[in-house]
Amino acid sequence: SAIRDIALNDGVSIPQLGLGVFQVDPAETQANVETALEIGYRHIDTAKIYGNEAEVGAALSASDLPREDLFVTTKLWNSDQGHDSTLRAFDTSMEKLGLDVLDLYLIHWPTPQKDTFVDTWKAFEQLKADGRIRSIGVSNFRVEDLQKLLDAGLTVPSVNQIELHPALTQTELRAFHDEHGIATEAWSPLAQGQVFEEPAITQVAQAHGASPAQVILAWHLALGNIVFPKSVTPQRIADNFAATDIELTPDEIRSISGVNRDERIGPDPAAFN
Ligand code: NAD
Repeated sequence: SAIRDIALNDGVSIPQLGLGVFQVDPAETQANVETALEIGYRHIDTAKIYGNEAEVGAALSASDLPREDLFVTTKLWNSDQGHDSTLRAFDTSMEKLGLDVLDLYLIHWPTPQKDTFVDTWKAFEQLKADGRIRSIGVSNFRVEDLQKLLDAGLTVPSVNQIELHPALTQTELRAFHDEHGIATEAWSPLAQGQVFEEPAITQVAQAHGASPAQVILAWHLALGNIVFPKSVTPQRIADNFAATDIELTPDEIRSISGVNRDERIGPDPAAFN
């Protein structure tokens, strides 16, 4: 299998498929990441709030892989937003991860009522200018949140990591991203298993002798989304990696997109604090 690299708007390359570790028990995280690295994964998506940055870091430092072959993302938690608190939270995350330079740092949620993400973003710009982060991005931002950064003349985020799966195809946000050179990262790319029984998906799976999870991931990859499905089961971690070998026809891609019902499984970014 061959994972494509996506070029971000700042020239940095990110492997299009990685491993997500949300809801992975810290006690299981090091082994989970080590299994993924053995299979060939080179991109890990964590966050301060997942409580497992130190265990991700332990797996990275136990690995013989050169640092430049690995891509690590973590995220700033909501309560740490604000200029100075961002700088402090970043240092804590880096200590846990055991890294000198982070590949990608994201503002986890816009928390629009608090109105602190512009100051937070200026701290992100400073960390990037200081060489501590290669790429900076956001997560769960709506069009109006992204527009606020653009209107302020600030750095265009390299990515926006949003809930995106066959039941929530995010057509409007994806078009806005494309227009502005922002890469789309899809969180809960498998809708946490909630769309595996959809006839449109089981049909495509059957046609390829593949699992529903695999054809959903192939759909994301064909659309250009960056994905990091979560699994702690070695066979599934390998199966998800092998999804890069599946090529869908334009009809199959349309058919899976037709599952859309604009249905979230996670919080609404407009209200989440
Ligand atoms: P997911 O869509 O990746 O689903 C994971 C679940 O799908 C697993 O627990 C397992 O039950 C099932 N699964 C995985 N592979 C399978 C396979 N091959 N066959 C059958 N079942 C399989 O859900 P997720 O963990 O919520 O999302 C993935 C990652 O996205 C997270 O780990 C995290 O890194 C990121 N995320 C980010 C945010 C955010 O706010 N930025 C929110 C949620 C998740």
